[in-house]
Amino acid sequence: MNRKMVFDIPEEIIHILDILNKNGFSAYIVGGCVRDILLGQTPKDWDITTDAKPEDVKRFFPRVFETGINHGTVTAVINDTNYEITTFRTSTYEETSTLTEDLSLRDFTINAIAYHPQEGIIDPFSGISDLEKSTIRAVGNPHDRFEEDPLRMLRAVRFSSTLGFKIDDSVLSSIKENCSKIEKVSVERIRDELSKILTSDRPEEFVTLRETGLLKHILPEFDICFDITQNHPYHIYNVAMHTLRTVSSIEKNTALRWTMLLHDTGKAVTKTTDNKGIDHFYGHQKKSMDIAKRVLERYKFDNATTQKILILIKYHDMRINPDNKSVRKAVSKMGEDIFPDLLKVQKADKSGQNPEYFDEGTAILNKIQEIYLDIKKNNQCLTIKDLAINGDDLLAMGFEQGRDMGVVLKMLLNAVLENPELNTKEKLMELADDLENSFYK
Ligand code: ATP
Ligand code: MG
Repeated sequence: MNRKMVFDIPEEIIHILDILNKNGFSAYIVGGCVRDILLGQTPKDWDITTDAKPEDVKRFFPRVFETGINHGTVTAVINDTNYEITTFRTSTYEETSTLTEDLSLRDFTINAIAYHPQEGIIDPFSGISDLEKSTIRAVGNPHDRFEEDPLRMLRAVRFSSTLGFKIDDSVLSSIKENCSKIEKVSVERIRDELSKILTSDRPEEFVTLRETGLLKHILPEFDICFDITQNHPYHIYNVAMHTLRTVSSIEKNTALRWTMLLHDTGKAVTKTTDNKGIDHFYGHQKKSMDIAKRVLERYKFDNATTQKILILIKYHDMRINPDNKSVRKAVSKMGEDIFPDLLKVQKADKSGQNPEYFDEGTAILNKIQEIYLDIKKNNQCLTIKDLAINGDDLLAMGFEQGRDMGVVLKMLLNAVLENPELNTKEKLMELADDLENSFYK
C-alpha cells in the first residue's frame, strides 16, 4: 500500500487539522475512520488525535462542547456535524505524550493507524498488513491489553463479526484465558458491543463468544442453549444454533435481533422427552419471556424496548389462522403497532427450523400479512377506541362508570372482532341492551 496515498476526507476535517497545525500543534485522523477508508468504506464518525490539550482546542473553535473532558475529548461542531478531538492518549501520569504512544494504547493494530494529508499514513504497528490479511491482532501483548480493559476481548469478536475478519490465534487464546474478567466491565459497554454483533452481517459470531468462554460470563442464559438438543420433526438444530439462524434471518434492527436471540431461552428449562423419544418444550414462551426480562433489565435496556421485546417473545409461537377473524383477533390482542413485527419474528423463526416445512409455513404467514394489510386498508375496528359506541353512550343508557363499563366495552369489541358488520351505533346499542339485561338480572 502506498503510504503517501491521498485520502478523500471532508473539508471540515482538513480545516480542523489546519487550525491545529497553524497554532503549532500536531493533529491526525485516527482509529475507526482510517481503518474504514483503507477498507474502502465510508466512516460513520471521525476521530482526531492531537497533542493540543482540551483547553487549547476549546480556544480554536467557536462551537465546542466537552463530551469526555476526563478522557481529553472535546467535540467541535462544524456545519452541524460533530467532530471529536482527543488529546494523545497517555499510559502514565506524564503530562505529554506522542502519536506513537497514543497508537500503542489502542486495542487492535487495524485501529491503530493515523493519517495526515501531508504526512500520509502512520502505521507503527503494521495495521495495514493486518488489514490486508483480514486479521484482528492486539497492539502489543494481548494478555496485558485485556487485563487493562477486558472489554477489548468483546470488541475483538465484534470486529470479527462486523468486518468478517479472523481473530489471530494469540488473541483467541488470550481471550480464553482471561474471559472471566469481562465481568468487571460495565453492563452498558457490554450491551452496546453485543448489540453491534447482533446487528452485524455475521451474528453467528456468537459461536466465537461461546468457544472463547465469554458467553457464559455475559449471557449464561443463552450459553446453555448450545447444550439443548431438539429431537422433533420441526427441528434439526440445537436451540442455540436454531436461534442464531433466526437472528440472521430477521432485519438488522436492535430490538428484533435481541428478540430472536432470547425467544427460545426458556427451552433450556422446559425440555421433556416423551416415550417415543420426541422432545417437547411446553410453556417455553412464558419462561423465555421471564428470562428475557431478567437479561434486559440486567443490561439496562430502556422500558419501551424491553416491553416490545417481551411481547414479541410472549407471542412468538401464537397460532394465527389465515382467515379474517383470526387475524383481527390476533392484531387486537397484540396491538396494532407491534403486529407487523410479530409476523417478521414468526417468519424468521421458520427459517431456523426444518427447511422441509419452510415454504408451507412462510406461505401461511404471507397470507396473514395480506389479510392484515386489508384490515388496515379498510380501517376495520381493532380496539375499543374504534367502536362506533363510547363510554358516554353507555352512561346515557344507564350503565355505571367503572368496571361494568369496561367489561361491556370489551364484550362489544369481541363481538365486532367476530363480525365487523356489528360496528354501527345502533347495532351496538342493541347489543349493549341485551348485555345489560343479562348483567342485572
Ligand atoms: P466503530 O466503527 O464502531 O465506530 P471504532 O473502531 O471507531 O469502531 P470506537 O469505539 O468508535 O471504535 O473507538 C474509536 C477508536 O478508539 C478505535 O478505533 C480504537 O483505536 C480506540 N479504542 C476504542 N475503544 C478502545 C478500547 N477499549 N481500548 C483501546 N482502544 C480503544
Ligand atoms: Mg468510531
